[in-house]
Amino acid sequence: MRPTYLEVNLTQLKKNVEAIRAHVSPARIMPMVKANAYGHGVDGVAPFIEPYVDMLGVALVEEGIQLRQLGIRKPILVAGGTLIEQLPLFFKYDLTLTASSPDLLTAADHLAESTRKRMKVHLKMDTGMERVGVHEYEAEGFLDLSLACKHVDVEGIYTHLANSEAADKKYSLLQLERFQEVLRFYEKRSLPVPMRHVCNSGGILNLPEAHFDMVRPGVLFYGIYPARDMERKIDVKPAAVWKSKVAYSKITQPGRPVSYGSLWQAEGSPRRIVTIPCGYADGYFRRMTNQARVIIHGKSHPQVGRICMDQFMVDAGDDDIRIGDDVILLGGGITPEDLADWAGTNEYEVMTNISARVPRVFVGEVQ
Ligand SMILES: *Cc1c(COP(=O)(O)O)cnc(C)c1O
Repeated sequence: MRPTYLEVNLTQLKKNVEAIRAHVSPARIMPMVKANAYGHGVDGVAPFIEPYVDMLGVALVEEGIQLRQLGIRKPILVAGGTLIEQLPLFFKYDLTLTASSPDLLTAADHLAESTRKRMKVHLKMDTGMERVGVHEYEAEGFLDLSLACKHVDVEGIYTHLANSEAADKKYSLLQLERFQEVLRFYEKRSLPVPMRHVCNSGGILNLPEAHFDMVRPGVLFYGIYPARDMERKIDVKPAAVWKSKVAYSKITQPGRPVSYGSLWQAEGSPRRIVTIPCGYADGYFRRMTNQARVIIHGKSHPQVGRICMDQFMVDAGDDDIRIGDDVILLGGGITPEDLADWAGTNEYEVMTNISARVPRVFVGEVQ
C-alpha cells in the first residue's frame, strides 16, 4: 500500500456519536456523511456507524446511491438540491427527498402516483440561509400543498442555520423563530407535526432549545469543532491521522534553494532536507508552502520550499532522519485547525480535500 494514508479510528467516531447523543437526547441523530464522510472514507465510516445512528445524511443523490450500494439499510436523507429528472432514483434506492420547492414536491407526487409507489420526503424551509428551501413567509401554501400531495409521505420538516457557530446567537434565534412560525401551521390545524430538525454542529453546541426531534452533526461527528472560540461542551475528538514515510533524505548546502520557484534555502549551515511522498494532488494544499509543519520522531519540523503535486520537503535540521521513517501530517499534535490556518481556509475544506489518491485505513472496531 501507499506509504501516505489517512488512518481513521472508527471507535473514536462511535465515541463521538455517543457524546453527541448524550448531549441531545432524546433527539435522534443523523450524521452527515456527504463528501466521502468529510474526507474520512464513507465506505468504512457509514457501514460501521449505521447501528449507532437513526438516519444518515448526504448532500447528493449520487452519495445516497453509494450508501445503498455499501449495504446501508437505515433511512438516508438527500439534503442538497435535487433536479426533477433525478426523482426516479429516490424510488430505486429508497432515498428520502428534501422537498425544497413546490415544483419538486408536485413532481415527486405525480411520479409516485404514476408509478404506484410512495416517496418519503422532508420539507425544507428557508429561514435565512437563502440556499434551498421555501421561505417561511411562503410556508402556508407549501404546507397546504404537501397535505394535498397524497402519494408522498411527509416524514420530516427542517431548516438550516447560517451562523450557528457564532457566539452572537441573534441570527440563529431569528431563524429559529421563523421556523417555529412555520410549525404553527400544524398546531393551528391540530395536525401531527412531522419530524423537526434544525441543528448542524454549531446548533447542537449553541442552541439546546433547537435540538427538536433530530440533529444533523457533520464536522462535530468527526471530532472537530465548527469554530475555535466555542466552549468544549461535548467531548469529541478527531478520528483521522494523516501519515506518511520519508521517501528521501539528503544534506542541502546553503545557496541551493529547495523546490520550484526557489522560495527557501538553508541559511548559514547545511541542513538535512527530507522528502515526503505527498503533495497538493493529495490535498496537502500548495498554499501551505513554508508554513506547514510535520511530526517526525515526535518532534515538529517545518515544511520548506514550494509544495509540489506529489511531494514536499521538510527541514530536519541536524536530526538523523532516514528514508522510511514515519511522518505525521495531521494528528500527533497537529490539528485540523493548524492545517486550516496554514492553508488560509477552514477545517471542513482541509478534511474534504484529502483526495481519493490517499488510501483510507480504518482502525479500531472494524466490522
Ligand atoms: C453539511 C450539513 C450539515 C452538517 O453541518 P456541520 O456544520 O458540518 O455540522 C447539516 N445539515 C445540512 C443540511 C448539511 O448540508
